[in-house]
Amino acid sequence: MADQEDQQKIQQQEEEENVDQYSYSEGDQYESDSDNLKFDIAKPEKNPFRPIGIDFQKIQQIAHLAPNSKEIQQEEENRKKIEAYQLYQQKVQEADQNQKELEKQIEEKLNQQKEEQLQNLQKQPIELQINKGGQLVNADEIQKIIYPWQVLFDDTWKKNYYYNPVTKESVWELPLDIVQKLSDYRRQFEHRLYDYQERNFFKFLPKQYIARQREQLFQKRQKVMLRPARKQVEESLATKFGYKQGDEEYNTWFDRFLSDGNKYKEKDSALTRMHPDIDSGYTKADLYEKFSTYFCLFFARGCCAEGVNCRYYHRIPTMDECEQIDNSKDVFGRTRFANHREDMKGIGCFTSDTRAIYITHYKMPKADTSTQALALMYDTLWRHFSPLGDIDDLNVIPAKGVSFIRYKHRCQAEFAKEAMDSQALDQQECIMCKWAYEDPNPKAMSREFEEEKLKLVNAVKDKEKKEQQNSQQFRKKVDGQQIRDRSQDDRKGKRGGDRGNRRGGPRGRGDNRGRGGNRLFDDD
Ligand SMILES: [Zn+2]
Repeated sequence: MADQEDQQKIQQQEEEENVDQYSYSEGDQYESDSDNLKFDIAKPEKNPFRPIGIDFQKIQQIAHLAPNSKEIQQEEENRKKIEAYQLYQQKVQEADQNQKELEKQIEEKLNQQKEEQLQNLQKQPIELQINKGGQLVNADEIQKIIYPWQVLFDDTWKKNYYYNPVTKESVWELPLDIVQKLSDYRRQFEHRLYDYQERNFFKFLPKQYIARQREQLFQKRQKVMLRPARKQVEESLATKFGYKQGDEEYNTWFDRFLSDGNKYKEKDSALTRMHPDIDSGYTKADLYEKFSTYFCLFFARGCCAEGVNCRYYHRIPTMDECEQIDNSKDVFGRTRFANHREDMKGIGCFTSDTRAIYITHYKMPKADTSTQALALMYDTLWRHFSPLGDIDDLNVIPAKGVSFIRYKHRCQAEFAKEAMDSQALDQQECIMCKWAYEDPNPKAMSREFEEEKLKLVNAVKDKEKKEQQNSQQFRKKVDGQQIRDRSQDDRKGKRGGDRGNRRGGPRGRGDNRGRGGNRLFDDD
């Protein structure tokens, strides 16, 4: 028992010491809890496995009151790591910012370069700017064409002007000869330009479809020419279409038969129709009279009974052939007039552009929505009219029941108009083809305007030529008269004024005046 008492004493002492340690080692907040600790520690008998010495540090560890030195080290390490990471992040951010700034600087530089390029382009003449058919017109060639003229930019007027270093002239516009050469050069790119421009029919017909169809048509046309043209009908139906001379009144003032009587006739649908794939082929015209004849009107209407023996072409006119046809004749060799007929039918006129046809009396295809119907209408028009020539643009105006078809050349329009007049499209109908007054498409209008400008330039050039010729002739005349006058003055004394009378011009008048004076003198 004495041992137990001793042990208790030792424990009490240790506890006291530990309490002191505890009270010293930790902060004030734990002093209030010290009673509880004492209370727990003061019941050693209840807990037989109680350790002899109390390791307060362990208790604190369990209670998470104080961190272990290892943990502290770890935390420090972690903190260092975090700091390092933060530093790294800062550096990364700085690098990013730097990069962004660099990119900004690069972008600014690029933009500046672009602006400079644009400004340079603006300073260049229009010929160099225009992007023709996806390809830039070669600027060097243009420089060659306008040599020795140089293109310069005037800052005050914001305009290009041309300077000739040889004669030291500076002008706003180039001489007409060079303008003509430039326009000729530009015309090479025109066909390509048309292909790349936006059209009305591209709204509803995909570009690839149109391109494929054009290729197929081109191949078909080449194949077709290897075989002879077939007879479209056995007997000629020409009497049904043409009018006999004498049927109508003959107008002596205008030197032609009046055909206005047809205006009030009811329109019948055509009896025959031309099928370009089946009907076309070579004829006598291709074999013997190349480039000297025209296209067969009856073939276009689908009623030529001649076949291979026909002296006119039985095929769709190509672009090259159209360009060779004289401006005073249409594609069938009929003479064109100065004005359109009153009903806008018949042969076109040469004073206005006749590349667009105006089509009415057709039926719109049935569909669920109006846009679908419109798309179908574009498709039908394309299918029926594209085999007859190179379509430049289609325009359907559903509100008015009218559509416009514009070809690349007026001869193609003439051919298509004759071929499709009073024919049926997909449904039972009898469409009417007329000449269009104006193309409502503004892009086409601008194109027309440019073409008219070119025509004007040509006209001015012709006029200048004529004036030069006239002036030369006038000089010749004047010189000749002067010589004659001298000779007459010499002869006058010998032969008298009889011969001078025969010669026209001012000399004759002078003679008369002289005689008149003589007469007066005689009368007095
Ligand atoms: Zn024929």
